Amino acid sequence: MNQWKIGAVTVTRIVELELPGLTFILPDMTPENLRPMEWLSPHFVNEEWQPIASVHALVVESQGKRIVVDTCIGNDKTLPIKPWCNRKGPFLEDFKEAGFDREAIDMVLCTHLHPDHVGWNTMLVDGRWKPTFPKAEYLFGRLEWEHWNRSRDRHTTPLLEQSVEPVLDAGLERLVETDHRVTDEVWLEPTPGHTPGHVSVRIASEGAEAVITGDVLHHPGQMGRPHWKCTADVDSDAAVATRKEFLSRYSDAPILVIGTHFAAPTAGHVVRDGEAWRFEV
Ligand SMILES: [Zn+2]
Repeated sequence: MNQWKIGAVTVTRIVELELPGLTFILPDMTPENLRPMEWLSPHFVNEEWQPIASVHALVVESQGKRIVVDTCIGNDKTLPIKPWCNRKGPFLEDFKEAGFDREAIDMVLCTHLHPDHVGWNTMLVDGRWKPTFPKAEYLFGRLEWEHWNRSRDRHTTPLLEQSVEPVLDAGLERLVETDHRVTDEVWLEPTPGHTPGHVSVRIASEGAEAVITGDVLHHPGQMGRPHWKCTADVDSDAAVATRKEFLSRYSDAPILVIGTHFAAPTAGHVVRDGEAWRFEV
């Protein structure tokens, strides 16, 4: 478990999966292409220089509120990516072991509505999908929901039916704008491209600052090669432009960058490196 303090805010990482391999969505992310970025070793590549990716939830505690940012892949879901389909993982046990009670979560916040960010929104109980966090308000981006609701196909329909609509049926959703303020210390920042309503999460408390990336970056290697495109981007050119803006905004600043898919230690600082950037942990 990793945990960070940003002033009075605590962020705790709860891992669902941490594995090598990202070329299925980032075809440029090969060992040959990563090796020149020596700083990626040892945390973000394995011994063969394959990139390591993580799927984790971040529990943000701010002003008495417990907020789960992104809910990973989930169990029992119907998904086109094999290792994500019909999982039987111990995430809920790990969540409890980290000291959190799913019934005492106040808010759930999805940076976007991709399958690895909405999975534990729900769980299968007696053959029916129920909200995993029954007392939480679930914040979904209005733009994001509208986009996926009108782009239904054989992959997105089961995703919405299993992981989003049961929350709407329970009346727990709140559709928010991309600059929504969550608490005095936590707010959303629009970072569109990967998906139209994609957001990052900003934290500021007692003079300390942090940002949770969302999928603006999937791996620190994209700091050195921000032009590498992700095949899951809805608008890749916009995603590249947003990534470069994001890196220039958060580089060489006392702002902790917490990666939504970064392997441990997951958080660090972005530093300008010639024409691009690198990650210091
Ligand atoms: Zn993702």
